[in-house]
Amino acid sequence: MTRKPLIAGNWKMFKTGPEAVDTAVHLAEDCADVTDVDIMIAPAYVCLPLVAAAIAGTRIHLGAQNLHFENQGAFTGEISADMLKTAGVEYVIIGHSERRQYFFETDDTVNKKIKAAAAKGLKPILCVGETDAQREAGNTFLTLDKQVSDGLKGHDPKHLKDLVLAYEPVWAIGTGQTAGPDQVAEVHEYLRNLLETRVSPDTAQSTRILYGGSVKPENIAELMRINDVDGALVGGASLDANTFTNIVKYD
Ligand code: PEP
Repeated sequence: MTRKPLIAGNWKMFKTGPEAVDTAVHLAEDCADVTDVDIMIAPAYVCLPLVAAAIAGTRIHLGAQNLHFENQGAFTGEISADMLKTAGVEYVIIGHSERRQYFFETDDTVNKKIKAAAAKGLKPILCVGETDAQREAGNTFLTLDKQVSDGLKGHDPKHLKDLVLAYEPVWAIGTGQTAGPDQVAEVHEYLRNLLETRVSPDTAQSTRILYGGSVKPENIAELMRINDVDGALVGGASLDANTFTNIVKYD
């Protein structure tokens, strides 16, 4: 099976509405000729409808950075899958390490969020990755196994055909420190096998596995040459349209 690469930008808590629209419009213009890579940007919630309108009819896909697993209810400050869908969202990032670290997200809530997203036809991007301490202690694979297994436990593989997995070593996010090619290759192969044993062979084949952690124009080509790397989740370097375009147009 051939998997179309996905280059996804996580804008985190950056950009007001007008700033997000401006960057999205520039990106859409600069990437109008890109057909071999899916491009996604995930602005803040309040920017979603504005950006959705700005990129309508372009090659840019829209993502959100989180969602709540309930469809509606008394959950002040939260956003449901239905609300995202109605705002024009296609992808949703789930279990980003910053959400696990600062907002106490657990594998259990991640599991429910994936279920809620898939039920509404949103494409979940499940983020996994070990901390520095976990790698130093030799627990990288144990950590990833738990995050993937618990995050996807009990899901019908039929509902995971649009699943995206993002391997983001926590020590590489926003630090300028990228995992080496051997480390990335080893983990991505492990994750592909894990999907096969924990979910299904079909899921293992269809899931795009992205690398994330200080991806920039200077290292993207080398990362994309690695077996089982199907794209990238980009934070800081996705905020500028020119820089992100140079990542999308890697060679
Ligand atoms: C991220 O936030 O998902 C990320 C990978 O950030 P950065 O590219 O800035 O390391």
